[in-house]
Amino acid sequence: MNIILLGPPGAGKGTQAQRLVAERGMVQLSTGDMLRAAVKAGTPTGLKAKAVMEAGELVSDEIVSGIIGEALDKLSPETGVIFDGYPRTAPQAESLDALLGERGRQLDHVIELEVDEDALVDRITGRYTCATCGAGYHDRYKQPKVAGVCDTCGGTEFKRRPDDNEETVRTRMAEYRAKTAPILPIYEARGIVSRVDGMADIDAVAAAIGDILGG
Ligand code: ADP
Ligand code: AMP
Repeated sequence: MNIILLGPPGAGKGTQAQRLVAERGMVQLSTGDMLRAAVKAGTPTGLKAKAVMEAGELVSDEIVSGIIGEALDKLSPETGVIFDGYPRTAPQAESLDALLGERGRQLDHVIELEVDEDALVDRITGRYTCATCGAGYHDRYKQPKVAGVCDTCGGTEFKRRPDDNEETVRTRMAEYRAKTAPILPIYEARGIVSRVDGMADIDAVAAAIGDILGG
């Protein structure tokens, strides 16, 4: 099964992808995570992407489609994939079709997380992750069971993203509205789009996604 989680920054894509990985053994391909790893490692891709990401703008289609292709090649054909934060533009949607087709894969579901924009700044400015395993948390909405200790790996170091500030979030939302939301009709025409209320609590969103995916 290959699915896209679509929604603006802070909609809950990463949170739900991590649940699907834990519960269904799928693999999460987050272009944002892969780009942040490239920035940290100082690779040529990372050097090109760093300033663009800090500004909240979009990295080039060629770069992100390239890293998705490389990531798909590392997976066995039967592994289910969750695309998180990709595609974000019409050319990326076209590339994804080609990348999947070349590998005998097809897109089964596009799940749109519908959220109020007003809530997103609050979600994003409260977001942090485990520095060891990447598990996602929130200052108010998703705290570790034991304060300061990651539920998943027991790590005690946490980090926040440099682009998770109010000003950059506004740019990222504008990019979503202008370039990403317009790709939905491509998938609607194929009858594979489902909508979920992303304002519900995390468990309720996960249950709604589970209903769509079945099994
Ligand atoms: P995205 O991957 O779409 O940018 P995240 O999954 O990182 O979004 O979620 C953004 C922040 O909001 C995180 O700190 C997460 O813990 C929190 N969050 C995610 N889903 C919900 C929800 N349904 N209700 C409240 N907070 C949520
Ligand atoms: P995310 O982790 O999905 O919020 O992405 C963080 C940042 O990485 C974005 O604001 C963009 O600068 C960049 N990025 C991630 N995915 C893509 C993509 N598919 N296309 C272009 N830029 C991306």
